[in-house]
Amino acid sequence: MTDYTGQCLCGDVTFTAKGEAKRVSACYCGMCRTQNGGGAFHGAELRGELTITNTTGLKWYASSDKARRGFCANCGSSLFWQSNINPTYFDISLGVLDDVSNLKLEAHIFVDDCAPYQTVPNNAPHLTHADVLANPLQDQS
Ligand SMILES: [Zn+2]
Ligand SMILES: [Zn+2]
Repeated sequence: MTDYTGQCLCGDVTFTAKGEAKRVSACYCGMCRTQNGGGAFHGAELRGELTITNTTGLKWYASSDKARRGFCANCGSSLFWQSNINPTYFDISLGVLDDVSNLKLEAHIFVDDCAPYQTVPNNAPHLTHADVLANPLQDQS
């Protein structure tokens, strides 16, 4: 178990998370692209407990019946993806973590959904939609 801390750009959302990093991934699905300024969502996929220590700016958006996405309503930072089915399964955007020195990208996911202008680097395995759905860790939406 590792402790993670972080905050959004303006500080209106701060958090701590205790968890086991299951995987560090970059998601190329259309929803992540729309939410994250046209790029992939780089996230640490964790199993554990997410504690929001400053909720002032936090908003949750139900992006599907399976999951919700947390962001800061003040500065717009994309923060979290959290499963509704199992809330102990969540992703934290690598961009809002205080310390990413021990995190290494392990997978590019939903690569078959990437936009024509995107190039998926070859620094980690490429997983398609079908690959992701075949793995119970990755019930993303
Ligand atoms: Zn903020
Ligand atoms: Zn995605």
